[in-house]
Amino acid sequence: MKTYKRIETQLIHAGTPQPRIQGAVALPIFQSANFEYTGESRYEDLKYIRLNNTPNHIALHQVLSALENAPAALVAASGMAIISTTLLTVLAAGDHVLAQECLYGGTHHLLTTDLPRFGIACSFIDADAPDSWAAALRPNTKAIYVEAMTNPLLEVADLRAVVRFAREHNLVSIIDSTFASPINYRPIEAGFDLALHSATKYLNGHSDIVGGAVVGGSEAIERITHKMNHLGGSMDPHAAFLLYRGLKTLALRVRQQNHSALEIAKFLAGHPAVAQVNYAGLESHRRHQRARELFAGFGGVLSFELKGSTERAEQFMHRTQIPIVAPSLGGVETLLTRPAVTSHAGMSSESRHRLGISDHLIRMSVGIEATEELIEDFSQALAA
Ligand code: PLP
Repeated sequence: MKTYKRIETQLIHAGTPQPRIQGAVALPIFQSANFEYTGESRYEDLKYIRLNNTPNHIALHQVLSALENAPAALVAASGMAIISTTLLTVLAAGDHVLAQECLYGGTHHLLTTDLPRFGIACSFIDADAPDSWAAALRPNTKAIYVEAMTNPLLEVADLRAVVRFAREHNLVSIIDSTFASPINYRPIEAGFDLALHSATKYLNGHSDIVGGAVVGGSEAIERITHKMNHLGGSMDPHAAFLLYRGLKTLALRVRQQNHSALEIAKFLAGHPAVAQVNYAGLESHRRHQRARELFAGFGGVLSFELKGSTERAEQFMHRTQIPIVAPSLGGVETLLTRPAVTSHAGMSSESRHRLGISDHLIRMSVGIEATEELIEDFSQALAA
């Protein structure tokens, strides 16, 4: 297998079947549920879409492990499919996990409502306060779970301390690195055991599929693959084809999004109608220095509050001309959403306020439109 040194080159060439199939420059879609039997002796070696081993799966596993500098990778039908399958592989009845508070809503629900029914307990920790973690440990604690940047407040936890703490206490360290993408952060290089992605977001980047991915050590990925073979959350080849294609422009997209988001954050921070901007790229952000040390870029998502009421926030969102008012993130188009009514609607308003998510907070996922044109648009919407 050919290997490539730089991430930009890996994105284009890693995973390409050798020799190319009928000389095809683009990897075709293998929309076939099953494949001819060629004497395989293990169940998991039979070629079948649910067993995650068709040519479209294999190409993705190769490119993702190359990008993340990890021994192995596995894709899944959605971010939640990979998160649930990974947690159910690492944890069993009687186990306990430490998790960062303020996680993505779906993960938070899984940890608080579904996993307890399987006998798996969870304690939430302040991921910014390493000195408080030891007190939350139990003899049955098996894993620690964090996110690269929190949604929607863009907090940056002490990720180096998470890796150290996991090693000291023999825990599996797991990070959801969706917001960072491998362009801005590569958790396995930083010492995490497993890194997860909602591939729906930056990895695919075109808002046209849902998908998930995990990268990590070969043995761990093999165990997660066996679990997914049984739970069945495997990615369809057509989605795999789109993800493989979308990945090719990851570096170009994410670097443009890093640039635009920083310019927009600076513009908003300097505008008299804006009360607060959350973006780790701003020098005024509480964890700016930490984010500089950890990440190659600060990402394409920011959140902010306008002075005034929720109505004012709604008016602003609807006065903008370019962004689409929609949940999700990481695509080529700029999106605006109010987390209180979308991503965090499942949380009680009391919990939201305790975490600092106000009803009028607006989250922006910056796309790859012209930066100046976006800023002009925000400027007119704020002036109106
Ligand atoms: N992790 C994060 C940080 C997310 O933002 C999301 C979705 O918004 C998920 C996981 C879940 O991914 P999916 O919607 O692909 O299942």
